[in-house]
Amino acid sequence: MTKTHLTRYGISVLLILSTAAALNVAKSITGGLKSQGVEKACEDNCQQYLHWDLGLVGLEKLLIQPNDMLGNLLSSRGVEYFKIDQLIRAASSIFPFRSIRAGKELTIVTDLADSSVQALVYEPDPYRRILFHLEDSIRVEVQQKETETKVETAGGTIDQSLWVSMDEQDLPYELISAMEDALGWSVDFYHIQKGDSYKLVYERKYVEGKPMGIGKLIGAEYTSGTSEYYSIRYNSGKHDGYFDLEGRPMKKAFLKSPVEYSRISSRFSNNRFHPILKRNKGHFGTDYAAPCGTPIRAVADGRITAASYTSGNGNFVKMKHDKTYETQYLHMSKFGPGIRPGTMVKQGQTIGYIGQTGLATGCHVCFRFWKNGKQVDHLKEKMPPPQAMEPSQLPEYFKIRNEVKAMLDGVDVKKAPVVKEIDLFQS
Ligand SMILES: [Zn+2]
Repeated sequence: MTKTHLTRYGISVLLILSTAAALNVAKSITGGLKSQGVEKACEDNCQQYLHWDLGLVGLEKLLIQPNDMLGNLLSSRGVEYFKIDQLIRAASSIFPFRSIRAGKELTIVTDLADSSVQALVYEPDPYRRILFHLEDSIRVEVQQKETETKVETAGGTIDQSLWVSMDEQDLPYELISAMEDALGWSVDFYHIQKGDSYKLVYERKYVEGKPMGIGKLIGAEYTSGTSEYYSIRYNSGKHDGYFDLEGRPMKKAFLKSPVEYSRISSRFSNNRFHPILKRNKGHFGTDYAAPCGTPIRAVADGRITAASYTSGNGNFVKMKHDKTYETQYLHMSKFGPGIRPGTMVKQGQTIGYIGQTGLATGCHVCFRFWKNGKQVDHLKEKMPPPQAMEPSQLPEYFKIRNEVKAMLDGVDVKKAPVVKEIDLFQS
């Protein structure tokens, strides 16, 4: 894979420099000195710490306690007040002492010859290191740690659950959520079959060689029985999302209505007069009237979460489409064939038939649209537009697809799980 392709995935290593320090809610250092937890900062065979030669300096790691004061700490180590004052002033515009948080570690570098403090080293977040120098000159230095993004592949066969399988391989949980984004419209991750398998190509960030969580999921493949689903991430600036092997968006649009050739008999409203209850009550759905027995169709792919009866709803079906959207269909005369909780349903599939069960005055379906657990007016919702790709874009997409698909196909899901590392910059 070439660098040009890489930038399309938006690998921008330094962008992730987090504001962790600003978000840290731990108390700042304000009171007396109570540091504990002294430990060696370096393992036995270590010769060097940053630019210091460990033959010449000693290291001490302190866990900063609430109320620790850096000034007190330094003066207790014999640093003269004027130097402390100079350091505080040098730090004020770069990394003020008050930004140092309790609960974090501070490394004290001392001269082995006379025990004098040479420097303090503090890491406000995984990406930066602050050096408070007291050696020759008094100054404060901010070091950005070396950050790298690698593309890795992983895969597995599911024995118990996707969670268990991924956990067994030490794959970060963020990957499950990413898989839902990539495949959630095609695969029901809550009801997977034993023997299903998955393959993933994703970015993982490393800071000075240490893994720091995942970046983007670049490609995913899921096999269930004889069905195979591929999802490839593509971002051309205009298109950003997951696409199938033919370049069709993985995310599907919703049908405008759950019944063909119907008319809206009542709209969504937060307050309307209920014809049966004879009082004002919100109507959190849209009624589509059609002759009893008319098929009701799923407005999008998804999983049936309920197919049951209540006195108000009558026979109703509820579906989950992705992390955000659910739909519900009330007053059915009966359910469609095979419709029960757990059934995966395709867009347009008949899930039931128009009826007037429950609190209903005539043959209609009350269609309810849920967004993040709240009922909203689907006619006013800005739906996620499926970004169909123009034919002119396809050749470029296919190039990326081929490379990602080859990586996915190279993952062995039967062998003992291994995380394979691929250096994209070498090919
Ligand atoms: Zn209704």
